[in-house]
Formats: sequence, C-alpha cells, structure tokens
Amino acid sequence: MNVIPNTLSNTTKSEINTPAKTAQMLLRLIRAAQTISRADLARRLKVDRSTVTAIVKPLIASELVCEKPFEQSGSGGKTQGRPPIGLSFNDRKNFFIGLSLGVRRTQIGMTTLNGESFEEDDFETPSDAETALRIAREKIEDLRRRHPDKNLKIIGVSVPGLTDINRQKLLFAPNLGWSNLEIAGALQVAPNVKVVVENDATAAAMYEARMKIRHSSSDGLMTNFILVRSGTGIGVGLVIGSEVYRGSGLGRGIAGEFGHMTVVAGGKSCVCGNRGCWEKYASAASAASLYLGDRPARHGESTPRFIEIVTRAAGGEIRARKTLEKIGDYLGIGIANVIMGIGIPRVVISGRLVYGWDYIEQPLKQAIERSIVSKLAGWSVEAGEPAGSAIGGALEVAVEEFIMLGLNS
Ligand SMILES: [Zn+2]
Repeated sequence: MNVIPNTLSNTTKSEINTPAKTAQMLLRLIRAAQTISRADLARRLKVDRSTVTAIVKPLIASELVCEKPFEQSGSGGKTQGRPPIGLSFNDRKNFFIGLSLGVRRTQIGMTTLNGESFEEDDFETPSDAETALRIAREKIEDLRRRHPDKNLKIIGVSVPGLTDINRQKLLFAPNLGWSNLEIAGALQVAPNVKVVVENDATAAAMYEARMKIRHSSSDGLMTNFILVRSGTGIGVGLVIGSEVYRGSGLGRGIAGEFGHMTVVAGGKSCVCGNRGCWEKYASAASAASLYLGDRPARHGESTPRFIEIVTRAAGGEIRARKTLEKIGDYLGIGIANVIMGIGIPRVVISGRLVYGWDYIEQPLKQAIERSIVSKLAGWSVEAGEPAGSAIGGALEVAVEEFIMLGLNS
C-alpha cells in the first residue's frame, strides 16, 4: 500500500524561471541534442520563441552556435521544400580536457562543444600525489602542443574524494591516502585556463543528467536523481532540479559522502579508520574479499578483479554469482537508506559495478523492496553508462563549467 504520496514533481518547477537559468538550460539542450529546433527549445523551456531568439542571436554571432539542417530520416524520396533548420554547437576554436583521477588508473581526454572527443590516454595512478600531478600536467601540456589551432578553455578533474568549497583542492581521498592537495594550481598550464576539481560521483551525476536530457523528448528538464558510483569505493552524487547538489555553506563539496556510513556494527575495518563502512560491502572492489570468503589471498592465489568475477558468474560459477548477489543485497540496503534520507526515489548506478548488473539488479531491488522505500508511490534503480564514471564525467565537469559561466570564461 502506498502511504507516502509522491509530490516531488511539484517542488522544483519554479527554479528554471530566471533568465540566467533559462540560458543555461537552453545551452544544455543544444549540447545534449546537437541539432534542436527553436520551436522545440521554446516548448521544452516553457518560454516563447522570441526569448529563444534573443538568447541564441549572440551565440550565432560569436560562431559558438550555428544553424544546421536536420539530418533527413530515410533516404531516396524527394524532400519537399527547404529542410527544417535546427541549432547546434559549432565550436572549432575551443577545447576542453578531462582528467579522471582514479584510485587505480588515471585517464585523460579532450573534447569540443560539438561533443567530438579524441586523444584519450591513461596511466597507472602513482601512489605519490606529486608524481601523479606531474605526469598529468605533462600530458596536458602535450595535448596543448599538439593542437596549436585550438584554445584550451577549462580542465575538469574528477577525484575520488572530498573537494574544497571553491573546487580547487582535493581535501581528502581515503582510498589514495591523499589530503589537502592543490590540484588546480598544479595543473594550471596557462593563466587563462581554468581548472575545476570535482568529486567523481558528482561528475558522473553531471554526465548522467545530460544523458537524461538527451533521451527524454519532453519533460526530462527538471530531472531529480541520486547517482551511486561503485568502484574502488562508493560515492553518491545528487541531482536536484537538473543541478548537482554539492552541499551548503562550509559543507560545499562534501554532500553525498555515503560510502563511509556504517552498515555493519563492528564490521570490516576501513581506510577511513572506522569499521563496517558501506563501501567495504558494496563497492566493486569489495567483491574480491567476498569472493575469497573474507580471507587474504593464499600464497600463489591471485586476488580476482571485479571483471573476472563477472566473467566467472557469466560462465555459471556459483561462487561468483553468490558474490555478486551479496553485493547487490548490501548495495540495496544502503540505497534504501540514502533514498529515505534524501527524499529522491530515483537512482542511477554508475562505476565498474555496472558490468555485473545482470547479477546484482535483482537482489538489490529485493533489498529495497524489504525497506520502507517500498511504501513510496514509485521508486526506480537503473544502471547508467560506464563512461560517465570515468573520463566522461571529467569532461562533463569542464564543459558544464563553460556553460554555467555563460560561455564567457
Ligand atoms: Zn570508511
């Protein structure tokens, strides 16, 4: 029986109505669709055509946005009259770099506003922070050198930990053991290049928010969801009214740090100093110890990686399947707590855990169904795209910053 009415859709409608917000949303729509008509923009933004024209005019004049005929669907038949014209980004002058600083590997890539992405590279993350930043900087300098015709605008860095209020520093990354790291300063290769440091789950949430705008033809504008990123650890990103929520006041940058909530009293010890943290039971990395029966690997026995456990499960191995089911159960228990704490019953799963989704989904949903969340009018959990949890998220941070600044950075 549903006892708690689902009133979420009524809470965020007025948030879009400032001119700056409308302009940002318009840019996001053009970027997500890459060819969208003025009429469609007006309809989805709930504004009139003249507002759209006023926002778009200077963007066309500056050559960031261009008019482009829609690709004709079907082939062969004669087209009647002029093909319909839409708007698209056409920015060949600027580029953006994403750096996904992971616990095991660091990825780097570049993109343009058009969404072309190229030149991806990666390296094993060194245990020493200074070395990691030095290598990253060299790779950024190298990308700049190889594209002298383009202007590097913004570098987006996703990090597995807490960021400071200004998104310049990594305050603490428990799984790397790094703290108070001045990332922006270390990676700023020129005075006019901005560096933005973002928590990796928040970066993944930004990426998934754009995917939702792209795939919904009408009402996906005001999207609200919780993103749970499960990889080496667990991080949570929050999207409320299509904007990521990072926390408030001095807590900006720490919202969503649920990986270290205790789910087992006196449980396994965690890098954060506590015991029984959620990520010790429901992260992709926790699968190895669950698989080995919570004992260290024996001499000569290798610790299986998450993807190997998924492969074994697909091959019919019972132990591998039971491991993934157990993770699904713990993940569901934690997600139910997060849903009730935040009040958003829509969840997207991200990170390498997604590769085991076939075995994780059912026990995860059963765990949520056992909880008080089942009393809500509706809840959903779906798997997101793996790219968003890594380089896709870091690139998203860079481009989203450009959009938030009104393309003036
Ligand atoms: Zn912990």
